[in-house]
Amino acid sequence: MSRIEREYEASDQRRFFVPCPHCGTMQWLKFERLRWDKGRPETVRYHCEACEQEIAEHHKGAMLAAGVWRATATGSDPGTIGFHISALYSPPGWQSWRDIVRLWEAAQGNDDALRVFKNTVLGETWTESGEAPDWQRLYDRRETWTNGTVPAGGLFLTAGADVQKDRVEIDVWAWGRNLESWLVDHIIIDGGPEKAETWTSLEQVLAKTWQHANGAALKIARLAIDSGYESSAVYTWGRRMGVGQVSPIKGVEGFNRSSPVSGPTFVDATEGGKKVRRGARLWTVAVSTFKSETYRFLRLERPTDEELASGIRFPAGTVHLPSWADSEWCKQFVAEQLVTVKTRRGFTKLEWQKLRERNEALDCRVYARAAVWIVGADRWSEAKWRDLEAQIGPSETVQPEETQAGQIRRTVRRPRRIIKFSGMH
Ligand SMILES: [Zn+2]
Repeated sequence: MSRIEREYEASDQRRFFVPCPHCGTMQWLKFERLRWDKGRPETVRYHCEACEQEIAEHHKGAMLAAGVWRATATGSDPGTIGFHISALYSPPGWQSWRDIVRLWEAAQGNDDALRVFKNTVLGETWTESGEAPDWQRLYDRRETWTNGTVPAGGLFLTAGADVQKDRVEIDVWAWGRNLESWLVDHIIIDGGPEKAETWTSLEQVLAKTWQHANGAALKIARLAIDSGYESSAVYTWGRRMGVGQVSPIKGVEGFNRSSPVSGPTFVDATEGGKKVRRGARLWTVAVSTFKSETYRFLRLERPTDEELASGIRFPAGTVHLPSWADSEWCKQFVAEQLVTVKTRRGFTKLEWQKLRERNEALDCRVYARAAVWIVGADRWSEAKWRDLEAQIGPSETVQPEETQAGQIRRTVRRPRRIIKFSGMH
């Protein structure tokens, strides 16, 4: 989609070649050739692509002085000269390789930060990762925890509801720090939006609690419900529920990375058979942004059991699926792919396309993710996260007690508290 990239591709594609201080091989600097110990940017070295020896930062000055621009495009003379250079070439005293590695590490798990890193540090375009992950892989790495409970890392719940002609599907997700998430429940309400019982059932879902691993009971902090199929019924129900727990949403195609959720706008609703002008709130969700984010999260490498045992955490954004998620659910979750399409006016654009008919699991995930945005979790301070952790409380306490028989009896204290969630909107 980038005009600069297109022009550069059509040029002779010059890069700045510098000599290896060890073997003298001329090469252009690539980020992939930097190696360092994870979490320790100060250990960074450049590895020569010819002799594999380590090149330290202090060599850079002399290398730059001996550098030359060379065309890298093969074939006939393209007639246009194009230059590309990255921050890896920053002269001594500017941005060091160590600074670059530090930025890279800080950007992990955050699409926006990674995109900025690619654009401004490497001078490269950002490629949306759109190929659907393999459902079998997701299925194989499902995890086991007690059905319907929230694992320890989950700090609040959101739900996404997809309204169809004959049913409403709801997925409940638990969210922890850095957008790590766990699928906690999958609920299908039989009945279309025209039936009063459908809405009564949905209200029962709002009143329900799920038990946290620490004993606390969690309610859904925010349910985002799609208004696309039957907007007036959804607006009216949304108005009746108030703004505390329910957010009617409307999905729109396209990306909006800086603000994937916008609103609310005010739309007409009905109350007691009467139309109420601007009586309900409606949020607009750029669904492509959250689909891309979800698929990127699904592709994250997972720590091995040994690494987990040694205290290494799951990377930011990890999606945990429970053992009860069946193959149909997993297939629905990866039911779309991002493709480049030509518009009628000859431009290209990115578009999500369905690979199979049913994709409710992905839609519900996107809505539940939008609900996370609506409660403000994308912008919460460290203090807010700590506060949530404190509300849920410490891990269940196991206290050994002497019994008369001299045996050790374990008493498990499970505090029963319902966490009242206060969102920002
Ligand atoms: Zn070398």
